[in-house]
Amino acid sequence: MMDYFSFEVIARQGRARAGIIHTPHGDIPTPIFAPVGTQATVKSLTPAQLYELDAKLILSNTYHLYLRPGDELVASLGGLHRFMSWDRPILTDSGGFQVFSLNEMRKVDDDGVTFKSHIDGSTHRFTPEKAISIQENLGADIIMAFDECAPPYDRPYIEKAMLRTHQWAERCLKAKTRPDQALYGIVQGGIYPDLRQRSAEVIASLGFPGHAIGGLSVGETKDEMHKILELVDTILPENKPRYLMGVGTPGDLVNGIQRGIDIFDCVLPTRLARHQAAMTPTGRINLLNASNARDEHPIVTGCTCYTCQHFSRAYIRHLFVAREMLSATLVSIHNIHILLKIARDIRQAIIEGRFSELHSDYELMLETGE
Ligand SMILES: [Zn+2]
Repeated sequence: MMDYFSFEVIARQGRARAGIIHTPHGDIPTPIFAPVGTQATVKSLTPAQLYELDAKLILSNTYHLYLRPGDELVASLGGLHRFMSWDRPILTDSGGFQVFSLNEMRKVDDDGVTFKSHIDGSTHRFTPEKAISIQENLGADIIMAFDECAPPYDRPYIEKAMLRTHQWAERCLKAKTRPDQALYGIVQGGIYPDLRQRSAEVIASLGFPGHAIGGLSVGETKDEMHKILELVDTILPENKPRYLMGVGTPGDLVNGIQRGIDIFDCVLPTRLARHQAAMTPTGRINLLNASNARDEHPIVTGCTCYTCQHFSRAYIRHLFVAREMLSATLVSIHNIHILLKIARDIRQAIIEGRFSELHSDYELMLETGE
């Protein structure tokens, strides 16, 4: 294990840390934002464009790739890195979040979950062992334990799901066979401090090389999320990476890093891009607005991304009006650049001991929550 993966913290400021995760496909500097490639593609971008953005880690979805094209097919074609032609680190989720999002289309028991495919209605079953086997076929560097994600305010259900998640975490550890993958455990427990504390203690005791905090950004308030992060931060071992799953507005990054988080992922930058929305330091803007029709300025003046260096708001608006595919590509480049840059800038600030000064730069983002 130590041959393939290690984590070093190179600087700290308050609870924030700057570090490096060493993986078989290269180093991941932390804190880091991971763009999401649900179907083994970050929507509308080529790997070359992601390299140019200096993305170091991307996420792919076990549930989606299991259904289509199938994890065994991906394995027979050399694994996910080769299949999608991405030679930097990949993280796969366990499929738990997607399966539990299916609501009426799934049935859970203590052993696993039976669900119907959203594509053709066919019946499938995930167990902890199956989730590991699929992720071993896909071959990502960081893989996730199978967990049950419950709605944020249903305490009896959350407690039950948490206990199941703990049993499943142990089964995932036993099922894992590949030494070149790091399996992270997931803390659940909703917004309830006592449950989160118990969950963090149990998961931390199992000896995972990294830990994730699941079940947040699912409808709770920002304040509730921050309190849980602060609590969990005091329990999880400091010498292992922490990953806040599915969270990734600019404000969330700043707030999460401040509370000891190292890894973030979110579909937000590419999803917003497909809906004409761009991230800016003062919040989101809609590029379809008529006010952009003759605007020669870039999305953000001074932004160093390829899109802002070459294209006006007027041109990008025209692409959206004409329903041209390049529209999503250009705005995805900008939005991902914004999130990667926030993580990079904060990392440098932590190393130089000036994260608290940098904080005022992000005040507007923190206020708007965007
Ligand atoms: Zn830009």
